[in-house]
Amino acid sequence: MKQTKTYLSNTVEELKPSGIRRFFDLAAGMEGVISLGVGEPDFVTSWTIREAAISSLEQGYTSYTANAGLMELREEITYYLNKSFDVSYSPKNEVIVTVGASQALDIALRAIINPGEEVIVIEPSFVSYSPLVTLAGGKAVPVQTTKDSDFKVLPHQLENALTPRTKAIMLCSPNNPTGSMLSESELREIAKIAIKYDLLILSDEIYAELSYDEGYVSLSSIEGMRERTILISGFSKGFAMTGWRLGFVCAPEEIAQAMLKIHQYSMMCAPTMAQFAALEALKSGKEDVLEMKKSYRRRRNYFVQSLNEIGLECHIPGGAFYAFPSIKSTGLTSEQFAEKLLLEEKVAVVPGNVFGESGEGHIRCSYASSMEQLQESVKRIKRFVEKL
Ligand code: PMP
Repeated sequence: MKQTKTYLSNTVEELKPSGIRRFFDLAAGMEGVISLGVGEPDFVTSWTIREAAISSLEQGYTSYTANAGLMELREEITYYLNKSFDVSYSPKNEVIVTVGASQALDIALRAIINPGEEVIVIEPSFVSYSPLVTLAGGKAVPVQTTKDSDFKVLPHQLENALTPRTKAIMLCSPNNPTGSMLSESELREIAKIAIKYDLLILSDEIYAELSYDEGYVSLSSIEGMRERTILISGFSKGFAMTGWRLGFVCAPEEIAQAMLKIHQYSMMCAPTMAQFAALEALKSGKEDVLEMKKSYRRRRNYFVQSLNEIGLECHIPGGAFYAFPSIKSTGLTSEQFAEKLLLEEKVAVVPGNVFGESGEGHIRCSYASSMEQLQESVKRIKRFVEKL
């Protein structure tokens, strides 16, 4: 039989689609589903922020901005980072406004990886990291964390994963999917390794605003780290702006300018009206962020305690809006648990295995859902577990 020609790149053909999608598709065809599946705030973006975007349109700001983003926004971003986390970047040469943190991750990896170089990905991890490393021509090297260390990576685990080809470490704190947040002393231990072995760290700080028990420490503020940190963040989570697609990346000038080359050819600039919205978010949105944070914290406390009472053991996540309980006591795999729970009780969660090997035996539940929905989901999960 004649071989059908494929037009696709081998790299893309070999890439697996995200495991989260299948559950969304299943849930989409059902009625009365409570979704704890999606990783986004349940708040609508504050009105003042929306109004700023509308006003930019009314004033006719509909053309491209500078490739790196509106200068005023870059200045506001560096002011915000400096004031909130004591890190300093030059708005002129070291900041790029991106299409979400997603694009920041993409251009950061593409700017630093030579073919075959390795990037350590601490699992369970955000589903995009490893595919983005692969697409950038690198090799993702997973390191597994477990609930015994509250899903925090231990320094010796990093050291064991190093090879002469290791270029960088992907770090995410507070973490998606586990909610774990690294303390300052834990960050210092990781920093020591990066300095000792001359590694870069891509520090995904998108959940920095959502840290509930301790003040947030940005990796770049630790001595010796500014020059080897690529700080990635954005407006999606803290400011409830997922649909605006706005993020940013800060790095030492040489790296930032390399990223800017990719950005100017592939994206030109982030959407202009969203940049105006982000500017307003930084100028006046902080109070709303604190209110949302308070509300997530309340929901976290209720939800995590309820999961533990049901017998699904769950550490207290220090940040983000995810609970990552163990379902090992049920004897089901995480896929079986998530599928049965959805079909029998109409609660959508994400099976932990989609976040990496050590995610197996867990499920990710987003508690960015109304208190009523959380209470109802707890009832349903309890009934489900008791029936097993
Ligand atoms: N990093 C992490 C850890 C995330 O959870 C997400 C969103 N789920 C992103 C990056 C991407 O965010 P954005 O909407 O800014 O592209």
